[in-house]
Amino acid sequence: MEGGAVRTPIPLVDIAAQHASVADDVEARVLAVLRSGQYIGGAEVEELEQEFAAYCGVKYAVAVNSGTAALHAALYALGIGPGDEVITVSHTFAATAEAIVATGATPVFVDIDPLTFNMDPAAVRAAISPRTRAILPVHLYGRIAPMREILEIADAHGLAVVEDACQAHGARSEGQRAGSFGAIGCFSFYPSKNLGAAGEGGIAVTNSAELAAKMRQLADHGQSRRYEHAVSGYNYRLPALQASVLRVKLRRLDEWNERRRQHAVAYARGLSELGLVLPVSAGEAGSVYHLYVVRSDERDALARHLADASIGTGVHYPVPVHLQPAFDGNSRTVGTLPHTVAAANEVLSLPMYAELTTDQLECVVGAVRAFAAQTVLAR
Ligand SMILES: *Cc1c(COP(=O)(O)O)cnc(C)c1O
Repeated sequence: MEGGAVRTPIPLVDIAAQHASVADDVEARVLAVLRSGQYIGGAEVEELEQEFAAYCGVKYAVAVNSGTAALHAALYALGIGPGDEVITVSHTFAATAEAIVATGATPVFVDIDPLTFNMDPAAVRAAISPRTRAILPVHLYGRIAPMREILEIADAHGLAVVEDACQAHGARSEGQRAGSFGAIGCFSFYPSKNLGAAGEGGIAVTNSAELAAKMRQLADHGQSRRYEHAVSGYNYRLPALQASVLRVKLRRLDEWNERRRQHAVAYARGLSELGLVLPVSAGEAGSVYHLYVVRSDERDALARHLADASIGTGVHYPVPVHLQPAFDGNSRTVGTLPHTVAAANEVLSLPMYAELTTDQLECVVGAVRAFAAQTVLAR
């Protein structure tokens, strides 16, 4: 099954395959919205907000046009601004830190737990200063950060918690969904996310009517009523067409996440004892496997081997955020973040999406096993 034989490539994600599985419903809804003339706001957006809030087990949701906008609106609603510090991780997509900088506050980068790739609570404790206002954990790769410990730290120091749940739609820990632990949970609907729009999108969820109102106001030009601009805001509104796509897909999310978990079990079985570090089991909490990430000190050679076999991979992420020029001079880093730096050099994401077939999965496993056999022989 593996090797350079000519066959259909296996991509890292397959958005067209996902669309095919819901095409009839999505296309009917999209056509209905097109014909309705209601393109901004309206019933589709309101219903998505209600359905997504209910799905997460919270009272309110504010639909916006990206995950980054959700994070920005969340921090803004909590009153975070210049002079404030927000503790977050560097092993994440840059948007997490961009949202902090957008408010005028300072991102404070801490290290991760090398086993889970998530925020290390001990590192958070060590990073707290008199200026700290909030903690912004990321549920990376679909696995919930250690929320109980993070919330304990936040309570003890009077800090707000905003969850970057952009990779964790539907993930559950101790019976609670991602996004429902902190004051506000933020999600992206970028097409490759576990719940993806046919374009850009995002949403913020909260149990606070006041925070929801502030986010909604910022996202709609600072208006709370038409042509009354209390604050200078943004246009962060989600188009109705995207809401209509997302409402159809939301009904399939749990089933898709369950399939991702089954693929992870099959990968774990096929890839054990090859010298690769596999994702640690998330136990009862589970993970929704936004990405299936292995570690290898021969990451680049493994990626090349898989590319030669027409298998797509990704590196999430190759350069830690605290080492990016964009955050030079506007952030604080606590120590040298050795686990973050090591992860950036070693992580490799293998193909992972609900529609991945058994044949495709076996191909990936075969190609990784062939690489491992070659490398052992070469030693
Ligand atoms: C995708 C993502 C974002 C940003 O979402 P956009 O919708 O692309 O703005 C933020 N944080 C994390 C961890 C993400 O994966």
